[in-house]
Amino acid sequence: MPINVSELLAKVPTGLLIGDSWVEASDGGTFDVENPATGETIATLASATSEDALAALDAACAVQAEWARTPARERSNILRRGFELVAERAEEFATLMTLEMGKPLAEARGEVTYGNEFLRWFSEEAVRLYGRYGATPEGNLRMMTTRKPVGPCLLITPWNFPLAMATRKVAPAIAAGCVMVLKPARLTPLTSQYFAQTMLDAGLPAGVLNVVSGASASAISNPIMEDDRLRKVSFTGSTPVGQQLLKKAADKVLRTSMELGGNAPFIVFEDADLDLAIEGAMGAKMRNIGEACTAANRFLVHESVADEFGRRFAARLEEQVLGNGLDEGVTVGPLVEEKARDSVASLVDGAVAEGATVLTGGKAGTGAGYFYEPTVLTGVSTDAAILNEEIFGPVAPIVTFSDEAEALRLANSTEYGLASYVFTQDTSRIFRVSDGLEFGLVGVNSGVISNAAAPFGGVKQSGMGREGGLEGIEEYTSVQYIGIRDP
Ligand code: NAD
Repeated sequence: MPINVSELLAKVPTGLLIGDSWVEASDGGTFDVENPATGETIATLASATSEDALAALDAACAVQAEWARTPARERSNILRRGFELVAERAEEFATLMTLEMGKPLAEARGEVTYGNEFLRWFSEEAVRLYGRYGATPEGNLRMMTTRKPVGPCLLITPWNFPLAMATRKVAPAIAAGCVMVLKPARLTPLTSQYFAQTMLDAGLPAGVLNVVSGASASAISNPIMEDDRLRKVSFTGSTPVGQQLLKKAADKVLRTSMELGGNAPFIVFEDADLDLAIEGAMGAKMRNIGEACTAANRFLVHESVADEFGRRFAARLEEQVLGNGLDEGVTVGPLVEEKARDSVASLVDGAVAEGATVLTGGKAGTGAGYFYEPTVLTGVSTDAAILNEEIFGPVAPIVTFSDEAEALRLANSTEYGLASYVFTQDTSRIFRVSDGLEFGLVGVNSGVISNAAAPFGGVKQSGMGREGGLEGIEEYTSVQYIGIRDP
């Protein structure tokens, strides 16, 4: 049964989740959520004030001690029920994401599967938070370590993966026994609002998860971060905002996880399987319309295969269908807002002014919605802004290299260090190049490697901490060491 959009939107809570109820903002303020494919307002939500933000923290702190004492198996069961409910509501979540963010429905369905895996994975990890036991080398003490919940957390998420970015933080926090205040992105709060209601439906006790959507991010985050009760901030978003939050976190010496921007190199060696490289490029560049921190931002292609790679990639992009993500057959949706579309256009125009050639695309779409054509550029100057900033759009600049050392030098010449991609059939090169890459993630012969079971995160100015994998839950715990005199 196709989803009825107005019935779906009517199910999404429009208030702030504080403790056990969805409430209006204390000053009655609201903000609108827009569909980027049409520019139309699709919902109006309560906009949290600083007072509301602190009320959410109060509600969280009130249940921290009891939640930390709740047996891990109970927390695990709630996550598992959440996983099953999200799966039952998958089509609703996918439709909401397409409506508020723009990605084509097929991709939104993919995000529901990916994002929901964090609930399943951390329901399984919740019961495996072990410590260690041993003797000191001197033999005078028995050493015991345990992992305790770090305490109340502030979780701040971006607009580009509205479900997955929330589940990647909320699930490990629940698993570890932390309480939390979630602040979704202003552009895409609907998915988080519905997800929070789904977790309540799954039996999550009131107060463990509070949600404060709003028009002013700092009005919400500042008072919470200045409060002595907060113990951790987990942020996914741009590097400049991450830097501001890190400075603020220093005042209270908060634990921080920072998942920040990226500038991923996509390296195609002369021995690559070009079919695989083109498939990989479609995933690494076109997933989420290029609006991903892991998106391939720079295509570094060996000079002997660059022409063929560019020609074949451009041909694949020309087959794509731009349009409203809810429409059948659409493979490329709009960018999230007008500013985003204009920023992509200005990066392409700048590269062309500096001598780049447009193999395909190169223009904004016409009509309502913030569309930009899938684009391939060649002959891009290494100084061009497009190679040094996050593009966040469906544009692939190609740069050639002549040997492995040059490829590595170009790949690492960025302040970012999140994702990187390597296409080669030479096993020894895979290890040599991975060793040389200053990136937290390396995709080998694959353009999409994110998985709930794997640690996701960057180095350099792409941030610190890891989400997912065995590491993801540790971010929400602190180690306590107990030394017992050995009689
Ligand atoms: P953004 O930094 O503008 O916003 C991210 C979140 O921070 C939003 O909820 C926003 O409301 C909030 N925010 C903005 N200013 C704030 C402030 N002063 N204080 C507190 N909160 C504030 O980023 P965005 O445009 O929503 O997302 C795109 C960025 O996110 C890109 O740079 C992308 O690379 C990055 N990203 C990183 C990852 C990762 O895992 N490394 C994943 C997805 C996106």
